Amino acid sequence: MNKYTSHIDAHLEIKKKNFSEMMDKIFAQNKHKFLTNIKEWKNVLSKLKLLNIIVISAIHLGALYSLFSLDLTINIKTILWCLFICLVQAIGVTAGAHRLWTHRTYKAKLPLKIILLICYAVGNQIPLHSWVRDHRIHHKCMDTDADPHNSNRGFFFSHVGWLLVKKKSEVINEGRQIDLTDLDTDPILVFYDKYFWIFSTTFCHIIPITIPVYMWHEAWTNSIKIDLFRIAFGLNAVWSVNSFAHMWGTKPYNMNINPTDNSVVSFFSYGEGWHN
Ligand SMILES: [Zn+2]
Ligand SMILES: [Zn+2]
Repeated sequence: MNKYTSHIDAHLEIKKKNFSEMMDKIFAQNKHKFLTNIKEWKNVLSKLKLLNIIVISAIHLGALYSLFSLDLTINIKTILWCLFICLVQAIGVTAGAHRLWTHRTYKAKLPLKIILLICYAVGNQIPLHSWVRDHRIHHKCMDTDADPHNSNRGFFFSHVGWLLVKKKSEVINEGRQIDLTDLDTDPILVFYDKYFWIFSTTFCHIIPITIPVYMWHEAWTNSIKIDLFRIAFGLNAVWSVNSFAHMWGTKPYNMNINPTDNSVVSFFSYGEGWHN
């Protein structure tokens, strides 16, 4: 080692020491702030439903990509099939989960129940038991802190945000009190919810995608893309009742509540936009 290189080494050593002293100083000065930030982030993260965020984001990004990259030579039968599936999933939610199982507006025998349960499974919804519980709470505690999709918390929260964060204690407490014995004592509903993810995977993904491929030789990519778009569209149609139809529309029956009559939402949700 000559005199010149040893001089450079000494110089670098001083620089390193100065840098580490500077970092220690910065850290000491910001230690409190830094730890508080970590705590705040931990607090925010603990309130999020990460799996839902990933799944819902993936569905929407996939749907957007599908829309812009769809092969325009797609078979017309595939498009008609997709429209038919849209109709089926809407019947499952509106006639099944909403009118029959949440509000008991009519009675159904076993064959109709089975048909409606299959229709409901087509729509990529949450398990039926949770859907009914949340919707009964919504009617009982509408637009308060105990409402799962309280529209007073803003458009995004009432549309989809409520599915991305953990429920408030008021909502959980109300959910424990809501009477669901009619569901819990119906063996077909107990069986259905126990194996819900199998039914959902079969009727929402496997059958809608494979039918066009095996029946009229549609390309796999076209069938998957149009199905992704259909799922995103169907979810947003249902969510719009909680968001759009709580913010924009007419109030012919009760001026003092948020729910409105919204004809656009009604068109896409098979009448559920008549919400006032
Ligand atoms: Zn209702
Ligand atoms: Zn509502």
